[in-house]
Parts: sequence; C-alpha cells; structure tokens
Amino acid sequence: MAGTEEAPRGMFLDGREVPGDRREQRPVLDPATNRPIASVPAGTPEDARAAVESAWKAFQGSGWAAPDGQRRGQVLGRIAQALAERWEEFARLETRNQGKPLRESKGDVLYAARTLEYYAGLADKVQGETIPVPGDRLDYTLREPLGVTVHIAPWNYPLQLAVRSLAPALAAGNAAVLKPASWTPLTALAFARLATERGLPPGILNVVLGPGGEVGEALVTDRRVASVSFTGSLAVGRRIGELAGSRGVPVTLELGGKGPNIVFADADLERAARGVSFGIFLNAGQMCWAGSRLLVQEEVKERFLARVKELALKLRLGPGLEPGVEMGPLVTREHRAVVEGYLAKGVEEGAVPVVGGPGAALPPGLEEGNFLPPTIFDAVTPGMTLAREEIFGPVLSAMTFRTAEEALALANDSDYGLLAGVWTRDLATAHRMARGLECGMVSVNEYPVTFPQTPFGGHKRSGLGFEQGARALEFYTRQKNVNVNFASARRPGG
Ligand code: NAD
Repeated sequence: MAGTEEAPRGMFLDGREVPGDRREQRPVLDPATNRPIASVPAGTPEDARAAVESAWKAFQGSGWAAPDGQRRGQVLGRIAQALAERWEEFARLETRNQGKPLRESKGDVLYAARTLEYYAGLADKVQGETIPVPGDRLDYTLREPLGVTVHIAPWNYPLQLAVRSLAPALAAGNAAVLKPASWTPLTALAFARLATERGLPPGILNVVLGPGGEVGEALVTDRRVASVSFTGSLAVGRRIGELAGSRGVPVTLELGGKGPNIVFADADLERAARGVSFGIFLNAGQMCWAGSRLLVQEEVKERFLARVKELALKLRLGPGLEPGVEMGPLVTREHRAVVEGYLAKGVEEGAVPVVGGPGAALPPGLEEGNFLPPTIFDAVTPGMTLAREEIFGPVLSAMTFRTAEEALALANDSDYGLLAGVWTRDLATAHRMARGLECGMVSVNEYPVTFPQTPFGGHKRSGLGFEQGARALEFYTRQKNVNVNFASARRPGG
C-alpha cells in the first residue's frame, strides 16, 4: 500500500460521505515521503454550517438524546469493539497519515477503543440527584445533553484525541461535529463511517474538513453550537476561548506543555533514563505532554545524561510502517522547519547539543520525508527559548538542580503546567513534589501515562477544564433544578 493513493474521500455529514460545498479536493501527504496518499474535500464555512445543521436535526429527531442512555451505551460499546477488532487497519492508516511508528498507532487505536468502552459503561449512569428542601416539596435535578457539540482536534494523535472528547459527548446524548486537523483527516473519516455502520444514527457524528481559521471559526460561532472542545495550540485556544466566551458557550481547552521530568539521585536511574527518553522521543516529541525539560540532580547528571544520550543514539528512525522503526518523521515539512528553527536558536543562545542538533545527519534513504534525528541540549538555562517554548519535536533540554526546593522552582518556572514527571524512591519527596508542582497531572516513576478513567488537563496556560474520567460527562450535560410543591396536591380519596 505504501506510496499508493487511495480513492478520494468525502466529508462525513448526515451518515454519508459528501463532496463538500466547493467540490475541490486537496491532497493528504505521507510524512515519510511527502507523496500524496489520498485526497479529501477542501471544506468551507458553508460545509461547517451544513455539518451543524445535520447534527441539529439528528439531535432533535433521532431519539439519541432520550433520557435512558442504555441504547447509547450499547451502540458505543459496539463501536468500541469494532475499532478494537479493526485496530490494524486504523493503525496503518494513522501511521501513513501522521507518520508515527505502527506500534504507537496501535496503542492509540486501542486507547480510543477503550475510551469508547469506558463511556459506553457510563451512558446509562448520567443522572441527577434529589435534594432535601423544607416543606411539602420535592426538589431534584436533571442532567440533559447540551445539543450540538463541536470538537476541534490536532494532528499529533488524530484519532485518539478526537475520540477522547467525542466519547463522553455522545454517551451523554449530544450530536457532534468533529473538525480534524487539516493534515491528518483520514482516521477521523474512517471512524465516522465505522460508527455509522455500528448503529450510530445518521447526523449524530459529522466530520467536516478544512482550514481552522475559516471552518473551525464557522463552527465555534454558529448559534446552534452548544459547546466547544478544543485540543491544540495556545494561540488558537485563546482565539476559540474568546469566540466561545463572547457567545457564552462552555469550552474546554487542552493546550500545550513544557513538561519537566525531574530525576532525583536516589531514583532507579535506568528506569528513569528510559522514561525520560520515551517521554520526549515518543511520537517524535510531537506531544503536548512531552517531557521536554530534563531536570536532573547535580550529583548524577553526567552518568544519567550519558545513558539518555546512549538511548537516543540507538533509536531507529524510519517510516512508521517499517518493522522495528522506533521514531517516525515529523508531520510536515513546515513543522520540521519550525523545529529546526528552535535548534538553531538553542545554539545561538549558548546551549550545547550533545546528540543531534542543527544540521545533524540523517540515516541514508530518509531524505524525502520530514525526518529529524533526536536532539539533546545540555547547558540549558531557565531563560533560554529552549527551556520556555513548546518545541513539539524530539528535542530534550537538560538542566540541573541541587535540592528539591530548587527542582520545584525550576519546574514551576514555566507558563505551562500540563504533566510533570518525578523520579525518586523516596515517598516523602514524591508526595511533596506532587503537591508543589503547578500542573494538572503528575506522574511518579513512569512517564508519560494516562487512562480513559483519569482526568487529563492542564493548569496555567496548558488549558481550561479537563477531559477523560467520569466527570467529563458533566461538561457535556447541563443541569436543571426542578422544584415541585405538592402541599395543595390532591390527597388520596380527596
Ligand atoms: P493548532 O492549534 O494549530 O490546531 C488544532 C486544531 O484547531 C486544528 O484542527 C486546526 O485546524 C484548528 N484551528 C486552527 N485555527 C483555528 C481557529 N482560528 N478556529 C478554530 N479552529 C482552528 O494545533 P496543532 O498544531 O494541530 O496541534 C499541536 C498543539 O496541540 C500543540 O500546542 C500541543 O501541545 C497541543 N496539544 C494539546 C493536547 C492536550 O491534551 N493538552 C494534546 C495534543 C496536542
């Protein structure tokens, strides 16, 4: 299949593929070769309106929003099972479109299936409560779906992050419109087809394509849209927050990170070195939760860095579909150029590349793709661009600390606050760090890790609100309080 172009695909509206308003196609490229692998419609704001219309009608007329969630749970369960059974097909498609090694895509697809399974189980447990109030009254709350929910996804985990917010939204009875990132639309389209085949009513999940600035904004500003779940960059997140705020529409923003991986001298250093390497080179570092800052205790720094360096040099780069490949290409040429800009800036500001760096040679045969070897910078100081900005590539910036207080100060010296790693055998250190770290998630002695049942979200500029976990359902429902005064109600026999 590699290098061949698939049949053109449509957008997915009202349970079927449609060519889009402009009837114009744009190519989707394989990041390992930059050759086209498919073409998809170039979506327009008109398509966005059509997608919202489709969702709105389905919300009103399909019965999906009925108070009893049993049917929704059953349908979502069937979709989860089908996705898990067809993991290979989806994983291959994800790898061809996004570039990551096949085993990573397999993990992503199975994670998406597990997320659906988790919310399938919760669909009939979305419930209100009764509240004791004085007198002859009954007071209770209802939890109702919002209506049309919009989901705007990034390109780094195209399927997994789309499903992360779709699953609770659908479980709660909403009708959804998904806009995948322009570079990586293929698994989202395949997923919508699969979901419809497995019983999701037409119009309950719509996939609209096109540039974020036009199509994304048309979705956020449509008056029929009741919520926006956005995963992506800080700059776009701010814009969406403003637009949604001006309409008074709830929004979750899952934004960037500059994760510190903090290694104490007493840690299992071999395990920590593997975790640090995994935490920055997985998905070629294109992760919001990348552990892109290594903070290592001074007395073990030389030894530890030498080991991380050894692991980085051993990583096998190549096209994600090739067996044994451990790191794929970056998603596009443009994105690689951005990361290369950071490498140059790092050197200019005085950091020292000890692996990779500007102009580092690639293994032969990879010239056509967007490959970039792993890079580790030593001698990074907290004020440097390398320590402050999210690079979104395989670039680790190393710094040292002497005491836990110093580690905490360094870790918290960031605008971001998504995930932080702590490596230590000392329980007191682990818990003190967990309390002191300014971030939404802390992981002790492994990195990175999350589950569909655990909250995922950031503090500071890493976001607003949380995805995953049972509470995510609250975002996709609204509460209504009902007070019934039965003082004058007819009495039996009266
Ligand atoms: P991006 O912000 O450029 O794009 C994300 C999505 O928003 C895309 O679908 C894009 O088309 C759309 N978009 C762009 N402009 C828009 C606008 N004005 N209105 C509405 N939609 C618009 O992000 P990206 O480059 O695709 O992804 C990388 C970023 O995502 C990184 O910053 C990364 O940290 C972040 N991210 C965060 C999480 C998390 O859970 N916190 C997970 C993955 C990625």
